[in-house]
Amino acid sequence: MSDTPRPGGPKIIAVANQKGGVGKTTTAINLGAALAEEGFSVLLVDLDPQGNASTGLGIDPSEREYTTYDLLLEDAPLDRVIRKTKVPGLLIAPATTDLSSADIQMATNEKRSLLLRRALRQPGMADYRLDYILVDCPPSLSLLTVNAMVAADSVLVPLQAEFFALEGLSQLMLTLREVRASANPDLRIEGVLLTMADRRNRLSQQVEADARATLGELVFETVVPRNVRLSEAPSYAMPVMEFDPTSRGSIAYRALAQEMVYGRETVTT
Ligand code: ADP
Ligand code: MG
Repeated sequence: MSDTPRPGGPKIIAVANQKGGVGKTTTAINLGAALAEEGFSVLLVDLDPQGNASTGLGIDPSEREYTTYDLLLEDAPLDRVIRKTKVPGLLIAPATTDLSSADIQMATNEKRSLLLRRALRQPGMADYRLDYILVDCPPSLSLLTVNAMVAADSVLVPLQAEFFALEGLSQLMLTLREVRASANPDLRIEGVLLTMADRRNRLSQQVEADARATLGELVFETVVPRNVRLSEAPSYAMPVMEFDPTSRGSIAYRALAQEMVYGRETVTT
């Protein structure tokens, strides 16, 4: 817990991209851990029925009695849903496969796209003195992802450095604009994060160059390299900073946290 939590409540960031396997969960876990390491108080909300973020942070499926499903649809008390992880300063609201039915159940609710916003902005949240809430979205532009965008202050978009990566972005931007036009006019783009990059590979370099040419300042200066330690850490139920603190993956996610909090100037790559 930091001494002085953010005035006006925690900053809520949706980690979203409708493509699977682009690094959303890896980013949510390790950016969360890097922010916690920096002294911030962070809540990771697992909004993917696959529950990879929950598993990757060591919350066993058998211990997920209350989940984000209950938060969205059952008005469950926060202290039942929000759990500590082994990382000091990093909390999690876990998910299970239950959440896959949430879309259908939410569809009949008049306030269907506002459910997460209402849950995360309820008065009891202040007791957690959070600085950041990161929402790990499912690989779709479903009602769950829309809920995350409606609840969020900004969207962070991981983009895998591969061919066609930019193509999928237009669909995401369309959804973002719809959310802005309806429930959340202040929604910002936190940034586009290039992931799994291999700077020795020409295609990877090309994707980075294209992304920077097309999206300019929206692209984080920090680039996450392909690093096997990042893919190994979840099976040990740890963020990479704990699993291998000096790995290139750890260095990249620490740099991302610095860039996000303090701006570009301080970042050296
Ligand atoms: P998403 O949540 O978008 O589906 P994940 O974060 O689960 O994507 O990443 C997909 C797979 O790629 C996982 O097995 C993960 O461990 C691996 N991975 C993610 N980022 C990296 C990286 N920078 N280097 C190596 N492997 C990565
Ligand atoms: Mg995921």
